[in-house]
Amino acid sequence: MFDALSDRLGNTFDRLRGRGALREQDVRDAMREVRIALLEADVALPVARDFIEKVTEKAIGESVLKSVTPGQQVVKIVNDELVAMLGGSDSEDGHVPLTLEAKPPVVIMMVGLQGSGKTTSTAKLGKLIREKHGKKAMMASLDVNRPAAQEQLAVLGEQAQVDTLPIVEGQQPVEIAKRALESAKLRNVDVVLLDTAGRLHVDEALMAEMKAVASVATPTEVLLVVDSLTGQDAVNVAQSFSDEVPLTGVILTRMDGDARGGAALSMRAVTGKPIKFAGVGEKLDALEAFHPRRVAERILG
Ligand code: GDP
Repeated sequence: MFDALSDRLGNTFDRLRGRGALREQDVRDAMREVRIALLEADVALPVARDFIEKVTEKAIGESVLKSVTPGQQVVKIVNDELVAMLGGSDSEDGHVPLTLEAKPPVVIMMVGLQGSGKTTSTAKLGKLIREKHGKKAMMASLDVNRPAAQEQLAVLGEQAQVDTLPIVEGQQPVEIAKRALESAKLRNVDVVLLDTAGRLHVDEALMAEMKAVASVATPTEVLLVVDSLTGQDAVNVAQSFSDEVPLTGVILTRMDGDARGGAALSMRAVTGKPIKFAGVGEKLDALEAFHPRRVAERILG
């Protein structure tokens, strides 16, 4: 993850740190290199431009250039802006946690395109809620379009040791959502995860279905699942969903195979939505809380 970016920034900053004194031009030259590194990591152009402007403005101030360790100060400014770009909250590691403390059953609605890793992420999250939060979770698949989608969730539920709503043939998504909520109340379930249908592209029918489900299920969290390997497309998909349904966060999957990291770096700035989790493998425990500060540290080495 972020390997190429990390290497390039490492070289630039080693040079900056190695110098006793810095001139404004040195900072500008370094920022040109940072800009190229960000664009090569597939960061959206306006996001990269904004980042460079902010860092440059702070770094060419007298207090930095005249300080005893100007190079280190510039790197610290870059680090802080990276955390902001990655969507850091005020917490120590910058993670934006799930909201699970509402009156049970708390509903988490999972949305996203087909193949993004939505069903896998639903099961991963169910497992995490059971194991890490110690809460009783239940999952329901609302995907009536894709054959075997409901069975897939049932199989994953067994592996994750999280109950799934029994399948009733012929029910439509809104009916399934209602049944899931009723069942959850009867069985004292704390958190219900609704795995909604995906499509190959964002289209009106998909959005209408998401809105209808959201209006009956009144979710506390609406999490968009997107594939980090699709880079800026992932960010565009997030923008389209965010215009239609009240997203509360993003799960970025396949981070284990993403050497560039552009989606992670642009998501918050473009969509305003925090990345809450990263998928880092196919196994059900391969879901990590997304920690902007730790990611920034990893990038800066
Ligand atoms: P859906 O159509 O969005 O529900 O996608 P699935 O959950 O069925 O996932 C599609 C494929 O991606 C499956 O083979 C998953 O095992 C795989 N997958 C999901 N998340 C990750 C991840 O974070 N990393 C890796 N390497 N594979 C993943």
